[in-house]
Amino acid sequence: MSLAKEVYQALESIVGKENISEEPVMLEGYTWTWLNELSVQFAPHKWGHRPAAVVLPGNTDEVQAMVKTCNRYQVKYKAFGTGYGSQAFPGQEGVVVVDLKRMNRILEIDEKNKYAVVEPYVTWMQLQAEAYKKGLATTQIQGGSQCSVLASVTSCYGMNILGTHGGYNARNALGVEWILPTGELLRLGPSDDWFAGDGPGPGLRGIMRGNSGALGGLGIFTKCAIKLHHWPGPARLESEKAPPPLSYFSPYLLKKIERCGVFSPIFPGWENIIEFMYKAVDSEIAYCIFSAGGVERMIGVMGVGGKEAVEFAQTMLTFMEPMKEQLKYQVIIMLFASTPQEYEYKQKVLNQILTETGGEIQAMMEDLKIGDRSMKDVLGSFMTTFVFGNDTHMVHGMGGGFAITSGYGGTCESVARYMFPAGEMLKEKYMKKGKILNDGVNTFYFNLFDNAPIIYSEIEFHYDQADPESVKAAREMINDEWKYKEGKKYGFEHTDICLSMWSPVTPWQKRVNKLGELSGDFHIWQEKIKQAFDPNDVCDRSTYGVGYLGKRLLEPARRKKSSAGSKAKASKKTKVGKKIKAGKKTKKK
Ligand SMILES: Cc1cc2nc3c(=O)[nH]c(=O)nc-3n(C[C@H](O)[C@H](O)[C@H](O)COP(=O)(O)OP(=O)(O)OC[C@H]3O[C@@H](n4cnc5c(N)ncnc54)[C@H](O)[C@@H]3O)c2cc1C
Repeated sequence: MSLAKEVYQALESIVGKENISEEPVMLEGYTWTWLNELSVQFAPHKWGHRPAAVVLPGNTDEVQAMVKTCNRYQVKYKAFGTGYGSQAFPGQEGVVVVDLKRMNRILEIDEKNKYAVVEPYVTWMQLQAEAYKKGLATTQIQGGSQCSVLASVTSCYGMNILGTHGGYNARNALGVEWILPTGELLRLGPSDDWFAGDGPGPGLRGIMRGNSGALGGLGIFTKCAIKLHHWPGPARLESEKAPPPLSYFSPYLLKKIERCGVFSPIFPGWENIIEFMYKAVDSEIAYCIFSAGGVERMIGVMGVGGKEAVEFAQTMLTFMEPMKEQLKYQVIIMLFASTPQEYEYKQKVLNQILTETGGEIQAMMEDLKIGDRSMKDVLGSFMTTFVFGNDTHMVHGMGGGFAITSGYGGTCESVARYMFPAGEMLKEKYMKKGKILNDGVNTFYFNLFDNAPIIYSEIEFHYDQADPESVKAAREMINDEWKYKEGKKYGFEHTDICLSMWSPVTPWQKRVNKLGELSGDFHIWQEKIKQAFDPNDVCDRSTYGVGYLGKRLLEPARRKKSSAGSKAKASKKTKVGKKIKAGKKTKKK
């Protein structure tokens, strides 16, 4: 569906000829992204809506003028960050994609108050490199350092490995500059500073951000401030070429390992891990705590990168085989300190907590060498690179289809109760069928936020995108997990369920609908917000709340309300009528 000539020209006059296109070859790049084959399976129609046009505004004024124009002509639009997930893609026909890549400047880093102000296309790696120079760290997401800081902070989830000390990114959002769906400009926080997103009186943070973000459904953010955190490392992380399976080492982390250490203690069971996590965060020793799956999975990832890497992975697997059962329940904890004394203290506390919770640190494989490095060094560098470099769940290297059964956020206990058993059971079941990759049963990914009131978890798995049976199995496994103890799970399931389930009336939207019914009707409130903020319904609603179901959602309520209203009117009339009659009667008397 293309734009009317008049609309195209109006938009072109705002951004200039160079920064607008309706060429199919350009638009195709904004139509499809990886992992969408799962959505195709779910959606009642073929996935992928080619946008009507793409525009690239260069500043706030242009964004604002563009949004106003879309309102004037009733044309739909949607903001696009780096577009790593399909939530940034149009969810219906006729949408103008607003690609913000020209707005890519770091505007300020306030060292003293620990925050940065960025435009929409500033990436994590861009900000991180500058923040390190000032002794500050970012909370980059596992989606990768190539993603937009602003998208994560204002609009889209925000799970990150460094969340144990740095927090969930919704809470790292400070002041924002926001073009509302109608084109009005709103600044949240003090008008002359960025250190806060709230002021005296009621705040709009819940509406602006909430838990998962508006996913492009409530206008466009043109600037935002993000809270930065303490960085005990150097101003620059050097790297040097390394033999496979690593492509590079981080010499800093290898040489100064006395201030930074990664440990993967093993435990008798999940209950011990939960206990360990609570104690570790209470004592505030951890720079981060997370899990990226069991040993087979980690080795699988390390085996990516050519013949030598595969040989290496095979050696490792043989080496680890006798310890497999022992290594089943493990978690990764990183200690990072400003001084050797602080590090020593943290390590002592860690040992104490491990004793109390039945955990044990395996002696690292000093004897096993890779090149001239010991395995201890290799694993240390691999994990720290993973943490700071954010290898996007390390899944890219493995290739093929990648999915998660759900993104479940809850307390440590609820995650242990609902996700871990379901994960083990389902992985075993589907791996036995031979339709998903045998990457070890334990492929749990989880990380902790804000000193552990919340833990975010995913059961990750790989399937064959080219095999319809495998795609079908992936879909069934996702469904099975949803059904596991359905109605009893009171953690919050993020809407990135399976990462790419957007499309009109997919099970994802029905799922949000169900969660809403279980959790204070938040979905109905979201729809009310949508209608109040976007009266022309021009900001693509496909990924906001329950998406298209939204309008239908309010209809019965509205009908109920209006029928209740007319009944009340009728009874008021009757009562008044009776009163008047009664009054007349009284008068007569
Ligand atoms: C393999 C994989 C792993 C992932 N891991 C994580 C993870 O660890 N943590 C996590 O939080 N997410 C994760 N995601 C989800 C998601 O892809 C990312 O959060 C997202 O990609 C963030 O950055 P982006 O620049 O790609 O944003 P985009 O995908 O471009 O945009 C994200 C959403 O924000 C909206 N948006 C972007 N910019 C603006 C703006 N200026 N104004 C208003 N709305 C805007 C878009 O419309 C879209 O709905 C993952 C996705 C995949 C596919």
